[in-house]
Amino acid sequence: MTLSGDKYDVLREVFGFSRFRDQQEAVIDRTISGGDCLVLMPTGGGKSLCYQIPAIVRDGVGVVVSPLIALMRDQVAGLRQAGVRAAYLNSTLSFPEVLDVEAAVRDGQVDLLYVAPERLLGERTLGLLERSRLALFAIDEAHCVSQWGHDFRPDYLQLAEALERFPGVPRIALTATADAPTRREISERLGLDRAVVFASGFDRPNIRYLVEPKNRPRQQLQQFLRAHRGQSGIVYCLARRSAEETAEWLRGIGVDALPYHAGLDPEVRQRNQDRFQREDGIVIAATIAFGMGIDKPDVRFVAHLDMPKSIEAYYQETGRAGRDGQPAEAWMVFGLGDLARHQRMIAQSGAELERKQLESRRLGSLLGFCETATCRRSVLLGYFGGRTDAPCGNCDNCLEPVDTWDATRPSRMALSCVRRTGQRFGAAYLADVLRGRVNDRIRSFGHDQIPTFGVGADLGAGQWRSIFRQLVAQGLLSIDLDGYGSLRLTEASAAVLRGDEPVRMRQDLRAPTASAPGRSRLVAPAPAPGAGQGPLWEALRALRLELARAQKVPAFTIFHDSTLQEMVLRRPRSLAEFAGLRGVGAAKLDRYGEQFLAVLCGEDSEPAGGQYPAQNPSAADRNPIPESRNDALSGESGRPPLR
Ligand code: ADP
Ligand code: ZN
Repeated sequence: MTLSGDKYDVLREVFGFSRFRDQQEAVIDRTISGGDCLVLMPTGGGKSLCYQIPAIVRDGVGVVVSPLIALMRDQVAGLRQAGVRAAYLNSTLSFPEVLDVEAAVRDGQVDLLYVAPERLLGERTLGLLERSRLALFAIDEAHCVSQWGHDFRPDYLQLAEALERFPGVPRIALTATADAPTRREISERLGLDRAVVFASGFDRPNIRYLVEPKNRPRQQLQQFLRAHRGQSGIVYCLARRSAEETAEWLRGIGVDALPYHAGLDPEVRQRNQDRFQREDGIVIAATIAFGMGIDKPDVRFVAHLDMPKSIEAYYQETGRAGRDGQPAEAWMVFGLGDLARHQRMIAQSGAELERKQLESRRLGSLLGFCETATCRRSVLLGYFGGRTDAPCGNCDNCLEPVDTWDATRPSRMALSCVRRTGQRFGAAYLADVLRGRVNDRIRSFGHDQIPTFGVGADLGAGQWRSIFRQLVAQGLLSIDLDGYGSLRLTEASAAVLRGDEPVRMRQDLRAPTASAPGRSRLVAPAPAPGAGQGPLWEALRALRLELARAQKVPAFTIFHDSTLQEMVLRRPRSLAEFAGLRGVGAAKLDRYGEQFLAVLCGEDSEPAGGQYPAQNPSAADRNPIPESRNDALSGESGRPPLR
């Protein structure tokens, strides 16, 4: 790495990008000039460059605090692929490896050092840093300092105190968590009172949102997956068992699926996560335990077989799709059953009443999102306090507008049935009463004798399910906190019952049937990178995988899908043309240019001179890191390089 380059050189030469995104440049400028920053950017927004480029441009080593060990390894692998002198310190290193890294840091041979928080807090590391020249401190996943957040890490609380020992070193904290209380907490707890806050919009325009009522979930999922053959994705389930069963079922229908949940043997869990991260086209069926460590750029879909507990959780989970900015889909099926399960968990949580009510309200907001007839993106962004004006054109409701209908009459029937049965029953039972079904349970309660028995026989069970869901979504019914799914009237129900207030509902597009289980088939899937690109795409992917396997690094650290896609579209014929592709910097050009060109030019063997520059020095010869520095990072000969 030439340490003298300016930010544009580094962007082009190291990362292979032609321009900065959005706020990147402003953040980089401030950090290079020594100021503090708090960066709020959505997942996939490009936070890493915000500290990586200043760390390379500024003198000394940039120290990156990152809570995720698996992620650290991959990030360092990716940086090294790009020719950056990167290393990490965490508990996975052997002692001799630690010594090597420490020596390299002290000698100024490292531009980026990733450390786990607990490692940084140790006197050994602090001492090392005090004896080294520091470019900056970057605190990634900074929301981990928030005690109320879902990712709280106690170690993060002590960071500010440790950083006090390095007064002149700029700090940059980064997170994808948006809300104002968390932002304040980060600022306070990391001593960022002089930091400039850079907040990007939280929209993820490349993610298409698709939501449908849960009917036959597996068939619906199978239908959805047809557009995602061979792609990486995550299928979220609420329970461990269903994650495992779903993985098994997916394998049965030919999907390369693996389970992930907190109850799995840690070794198996790690192996499954590694395969997902490193290979192409693995689908993980997981509980929410599968999450934070996932920074795979080419996850093409996130599917929810069960509703998560809030819009925050939904947005974070779906946010794992499409970090590379390429089209991706977030798909979900939902039903009142999911709601009741969450409600039960809330009821059993042992939290204060106020907390329970807050959690219930959050659940309700998510149901409202599911049942909305308007642009889903507007609802999501509005929930986070963002702009909500124009319909997005990339959600199911925009692509295929839904009709609404006057549901006043059936709503009154439903509410009246709830009242007359004592507000103790769930939607399925109530629908049976309304449809005039006679069974033992109904007879034993005498509900075949009440006036609403059978008044709704002209509507099917599915329609009644939809009506009850929407009554809950509109706040005309609430799910009782007992957790059994019983529906209760609300204050707002009275006006509807009296006939003073009309009710409009979304028309579920078609009554779901086995052959047409839901809406998703009607909305054409978003074209994804590589979709239908045929043999060349496959050949490039195969080469990438081969190279990645040989070096034991994730495939995406060689080249991202978006770079492979550019190869297919632009068909470079020379190294000079190859160098112009997005994501191709000097190091990667040297290391891989020839091999990919050989595939692009349809040759299996080494390309002969001719169309390429006469001399193609090998990667080792032109490696921008001087050999001696490489050694410092790779350890003594005979020991495997640090990764
Ligand atoms: P985040 O950490 O914010 O989730 P990343 O830093 O991983 O996001 O960046 C997401 C993706 O965007 C990566 O694939 C990265 O290479 C790409 N990217 C970042 N900045 C740029 C840029 N200026 N031009 C092109 N691609 C970029
Ligand atoms: Zn929309």
